[in-house]
Amino acid sequence: MTDLLLVEDDGQLRRILSQRLTRRGFHVIQAASVNEAKSKFSQTHIGLVILDLGLPDYDGSEFITWVRHTESTPVVVLSARRSQLDKVNALNAGADDFLTKPFGFEELVARIHATLRRSGAATSPLTFQSGGLVIDPQHLKCQREDIEIHFTPIEWKILELLLSAQGRLVSYEELVSRVWASSAKDRRAAIRVHIANIRTKLEEDAAHPQFVLAVPGLGYQFDQS
Ligand code: CA
Repeated sequence: MTDLLLVEDDGQLRRILSQRLTRRGFHVIQAASVNEAKSKFSQTHIGLVILDLGLPDYDGSEFITWVRHTESTPVVVLSARRSQLDKVNALNAGADDFLTKPFGFEELVARIHATLRRSGAATSPLTFQSGGLVIDPQHLKCQREDIEIHFTPIEWKILELLLSAQGRLVSYEELVSRVWASSAKDRRAAIRVHIANIRTKLEEDAAHPQFVLAVPGLGYQFDQS
């Protein structure tokens, strides 16, 4: 089941859309502002975003830019703005499709399916397998030699970010902004604590990690080699 994040400040429209999309087999997570959207996006694996542009705190395009900073999650814009410039700006920010209000519900569903098809497997976080170790962030499952390893939601989020980076360095700033949806506070110390906990659970020897590697002063990377 695909998790949709529906970002819309019109409460009535949000509830109706949410109900109808749920009946079509989607799991809908709702947000009424950009800040709430960031928070919800950081807490779970979102398969597709439906985004209004006129939101109370920031313009919806701010959220697209924020998502595109690290993720390829498809974004379908749903907006009353109909000027060509608004569409061009949203698409340039990284939106995958743009639907003008008022819209037909069937068209929205068709566009969601088309966008998901185009984005393909790129939207799924990677399952990692090495020797007897299997990490499946999408289903929150991790096993080593058939023994279940349990992570907290924050630990899962960190692991998922590291895995979806496919070996690329993930900086402290990026981890903090994705895990807590904020960059205001320096949470490097907290990240270190979570990384230490993940290593204790995941690595055979946490003092000499094989998978979750530190890049001193910068961040972490997941060694998939
Ligand atoms: Ca609005």
